[in-house]
Amino acid sequence: MSLKGKTAVITGSNSGIGLGIARELARAGADVVLNSFTDRAEDHELASQLAAEFGVGAHYIQADMSKGSECRALIEQAGACDILVNNAGIQHVAPIESFPEEKWDAIIAINMSSAYHTMAAALPKMRAAGWGRIVNIASAHGLTASPYKSAYVAAKHGVVGMTKTVALETAEEPITCNAICPGYVLTPLVEAQIPDTMEKYNMSREDVVKKVMLERQPSREFATVEQMGGTTVFLCSDAAAQITGTTISVDGGWTAL
Ligand code: NAD
Repeated sequence: MSLKGKTAVITGSNSGIGLGIARELARAGADVVLNSFTDRAEDHELASQLAAEFGVGAHYIQADMSKGSECRALIEQAGACDILVNNAGIQHVAPIESFPEEKWDAIIAINMSSAYHTMAAALPKMRAAGWGRIVNIASAHGLTASPYKSAYVAAKHGVVGMTKTVALETAEEPITCNAICPGYVLTPLVEAQIPDTMEKYNMSREDVVKKVMLERQPSREFATVEQMGGTTVFLCSDAAAQITGTTISVDGGWTAL
């Protein structure tokens, strides 16, 4: 599968799943645009490393996905946008009656509304190019719920609904729009939660991973960022040209329960 000549914009891609997806798209030959809200030398360095490793065009654009105008500016500044991966996301866990309003607003903005703004800005470019692929990174929480994650679950269900809607709006065009629903993926964000949980429950690292984190993931294994990247590359392939408006779970069986 070669994505040579295609340009991919991946939101929230200076770490974790977004960076894993950018790497696999670059490995497949796509030029990549990395993004986050920071503007550090190491962010730009990540893009240089991808360019050197895979021989593709790569650059980093700072844009805060909590702000609609910056979401749209990212797509404008990217130039071409044949592949759009909406990945930026944050989490906050609290019962709904004490869920901080600013966290609710931030999660809805970054995890859901950003995809509305980027898709609205990217679709005219895809139509002009005569080809487009949109991959929205939802979650197992786009299909099912957990307590204390009201904003995250609402946003991810919203992303799944928006994905279906945009797929219908583009159904007669060479553009597809799908969502990937990961289960637990071992990213720096998740890794950072392990020591605290070990201390809280007086458990070994192995017990925290298997009995706390992967309790709902029947495979009892984390999914990987490379698997998210590989699934994204598949959705960009010709084999996936008739796959649109769907969700692909990469969750070790979580949503089969
Ligand atoms: P992560 O924290 O490693 O990555 C999140 C990315 O989003 C980072 O690059 C961060 O800089 C970026 N980001 C955060 N706020 C932003 C903002 N305002 N503007 C621009 N970028 C911003 O976490 P991750 O685990 O890689 O999560 C990536 C996506 O995958 C999220 O949408 C998350 O909900 C989803 N997801 C993760 C898991 C998991 O187990 N790790 C499971 C299901 C879904």
